[in-house]
Amino acid sequence: MEILVAKSSGFCFGVKRAINMAGKCASGEDKEGGAIHTLGPIIHNPQVVKMLEESNVYARKDLSEIDSGTVIIRSHGVTFEEYKEARDKGLSIVDATCPFVKTAQDLVSRLAEEGYQVIVAGEKDHPEVKGLMSYGGSRVRVVSGIAELLDMPRVAKLGIVAQTTLRMEKFEDIVSFCLHKASELKVFNTICNATSTRQTESAALAKEVDVMVVVGGKNSANTRRLAEVCRAVQPETYHIEIASELRPEWFEGKGRAGVTSGASTPEWLIGAVVQRLREISPK
Ligand code: SF4
Repeated sequence: MEILVAKSSGFCFGVKRAINMAGKCASGEDKEGGAIHTLGPIIHNPQVVKMLEESNVYARKDLSEIDSGTVIIRSHGVTFEEYKEARDKGLSIVDATCPFVKTAQDLVSRLAEEGYQVIVAGEKDHPEVKGLMSYGGSRVRVVSGIAELLDMPRVAKLGIVAQTTLRMEKFEDIVSFCLHKASELKVFNTICNATSTRQTESAALAKEVDVMVVVGGKNSANTRRLAEVCRAVQPETYHIEIASELRPEWFEGKGRAGVTSGASTPEWLIGAVVQRLREISPK
């Protein structure tokens, strides 16, 4: 069986940067002493979180679990209030917020300061969106689809920012609906290319193969979405976390298998999957 790996698989830029920063902390290079914590798991990948734990970097649920030492802010960013609380507690802060998320936070803050009603297009329970909301205070409304805009009164000034991993079609729907909701509309396309490039490349690969494997945390929204995108063109798409989940019967009689991964999947996990596929179907 021929095995084809998507070019864009593996960590995205923001996750790679956050993992490198956590690694430097663990090795003592960027650490000011004391225990090292991440605010929430650094990425949605249980295998990487476990490896960091082995290097004494612990994922904590929130700041109430951290009294001293270093706190690493993950690539999704945190709320304005959490950042302030960490500072007030005297923690040493290593801010691994992805620069693209940071840009979106700054835009929300600027729009709110300039008197715009702000719409964040995204999922309200996602940590990145919670962070974005906090930078605009009461002027921010989170919208995941146009149904949530039906009751919104027309306003003079409206600004729109997207969750970095939002699907472009969804953003287009929200933006075009908002044209009817304001006299002045400012739109910032803060969708990160890494996500759309990965989805487009993976869907193209899924079309070319007989079976598709998507590697990544089951708790990772971007990996689940990637699996949906692949499944739409290749119904035989399997979402796995580790190589041992691969079942030989999925590949019986198949000529080509495609492999892709979410943004939070390390290269070594993808390598292990490819290796296992070769063992299952060596020809
Ligand atoms: S997907 Fe994009 S915005 Fe999100 S962490 Fe990766 S590079 Fe940054």
